[in-house]
Amino acid sequence: MVDPAISVSAQDALDARLARFRQRSSAPAMRDSTDAMMLRAAVFAARVHATHRRKGASGEPYVNHVLEVAQILAEHGAPPEAVVAGLLHDTVEDSSDDPDPITHERLVDEFGEQVACIVAEATDDKSLPKETRKALQVKEASAKSQAAKMVKLADKISNLRAIAMSPPASWDHARRVEYVGWAGRVAIGLRGANPGLDALFDATYRAAMVRLAAEA
Ligand code: ZN
Repeated sequence: MVDPAISVSAQDALDARLARFRQRSSAPAMRDSTDAMMLRAAVFAARVHATHRRKGASGEPYVNHVLEVAQILAEHGAPPEAVVAGLLHDTVEDSSDDPDPITHERLVDEFGEQVACIVAEATDDKSLPKETRKALQVKEASAKSQAAKMVKLADKISNLRAIAMSPPASWDHARRVEYVGWAGRVAIGLRGANPGLDALFDATYRAAMVRLAAEA
């Protein structure tokens, strides 16, 4: 017969182990496999951006942009947390005027601290004037984490492709040239985190400049 005292303490130990396991497995980073978390982030981004369109003449759904950013990151060996952050990188900034904006805390709850912090590093402070935000991106790029540098560089690659291939109808040639030049200045500070992304940025930058020069 089992001694009740031993049985109770064994049960306590088991309960404590189970509680620790549940706590761990309910932490966002542990709850899903990497693939499941990526798909969850893609669905989350698609919902946040459901009514958003890219500025380009073709008016693509905005989620195409964040999917492209995530694809660029995944194809260049970026760590999973950077790919997930790539999917989510515009959710806070682009929902700030919504009735129920996406907050940093919400991303921490859903995707964990690490992903939420990468997104925060890639999020502009929209209370600042646009020119100030653009200047800050140049100034602060080199101080970002490695993962945030990758996300921001992939974002710039996607945006340069769009500016060259499907520019906003209201952007004249000079504005497009200015944008490409600015992206190049931000990218200087983002270099070094991922050589493959650096090379892809350089090729995309050159192609955009060649295309714009041909149109001038
Ligand atoms: Zn973006």
